[in-house]
Amino acid sequence: MTAHDTATAARVRALVAEELPRLVGIRRDLHMHPEIGYEEYRTSQVVVRELSDAGVAYAAGLAGGTGVLAHLPGEGARAVALRADMDALPIVERSGREWASRTPGRMHACGHDGHTAILIGTARVLARLAAERTLPHPITLVFQPAEEGGGGGKRMVDEGALDGRHFGPPVDRAFALHGWPDLPLGEVGTRRGAMMAASDRFEVHVSGTGAHAAWPHRSADPVVCAAAIVTALQSIVARNVDPLDAAVVSVTVMQAGEAMNVIPDRALLRGTYRSLSEETRSMLERRMTEVAEGVARAHGCTARCECIRGYPVTVNDDGAVAQFEQVARATLGDARVRTIAAPVMGGEDFAFFGPHASACYWALGLARPGIGCPALHAPDFDFADEALPTGVELMCRLALA
Ligand SMILES: [Zn+2]
Ligand SMILES: [Zn+2]
Repeated sequence: MTAHDTATAARVRALVAEELPRLVGIRRDLHMHPEIGYEEYRTSQVVVRELSDAGVAYAAGLAGGTGVLAHLPGEGARAVALRADMDALPIVERSGREWASRTPGRMHACGHDGHTAILIGTARVLARLAAERTLPHPITLVFQPAEEGGGGGKRMVDEGALDGRHFGPPVDRAFALHGWPDLPLGEVGTRRGAMMAASDRFEVHVSGTGAHAAWPHRSADPVVCAAAIVTALQSIVARNVDPLDAAVVSVTVMQAGEAMNVIPDRALLRGTYRSLSEETRSMLERRMTEVAEGVARAHGCTARCECIRGYPVTVNDDGAVAQFEQVARATLGDARVRTIAAPVMGGEDFAFFGPHASACYWALGLARPGIGCPALHAPDFDFADEALPTGVELMCRLALA
């Protein structure tokens, strides 16, 4: 690092420390007032209030009304994007915290309150830095709604978050973080290639012939057929997926019949399938269709398999990962930067940023020493405030690198 870089790094750390008490207050306030996907109106207002207070330019009301895009000018022809998701989950909170949800059935169980507070903090620190010196790149901050299945990230991208339509030049590099319960506080990590799985769902509609339950020979029983399809679907991951690849086919809903003494004429299966490459994703879809249709034929029924695509694979770009690792080591020291060994089969809509910018999705440690951290989406989860300064400092340094 040059003397100039060292001075900037020290200044960032000092500014993060100054902003921290405010950010802890914001994080707990957001936790207390969780809003699910596309309903983040209050959250969006908090973001806008904090950006205005710091003198950061923004465009609000995106992606259905709650998305916010903010921008800091800088030198250079390409911008760096930093993204946070703002939505909560339909879960009843049992964290017992003083700042637990005040809205029954709504909870920040995935830590997006922490992500939002970190990006607010990053905007505020960078704005203060920009008042002292010219930033090396224009910086675009994406506050997206509806990560939990609603595809808010895709809508932000479709509405021009990365292409320079609203502010500054187009984005060519993008970073997003997620709180990581398995990683100790103060540590961060990422991996090259696939980081999060493609997350898709399917439905199998089985049609047969109903009959009196005592005359099964007059039926083409869709219940027995659906049960056979559930079993046969398990062979796809076991027999069609390369053992060194990974995939999931889970049937999670099975519906048929109304009466104990009637064989119904239809059955419905629903579930999710996950994969780590486009090839495997397409193969799963082809095989699920073949297996469902073939097994149904063997039972004298018909089956229609419908595959509904959700989020694609979140793929980390090698160059963006290399930059993340270099900046993280310089900021936190070598010992605090890990390589995440394996991808996670959860989905993530930061995946939609990848085709437009070289992207890196990284993990921010949340596990307290000797205590750990509850799982994401668990009713006792709470984002660790101790992770806020690491998150803000590293996001700032990534934006300045
Ligand atoms: Zn989640
Ligand atoms: Zn999440």
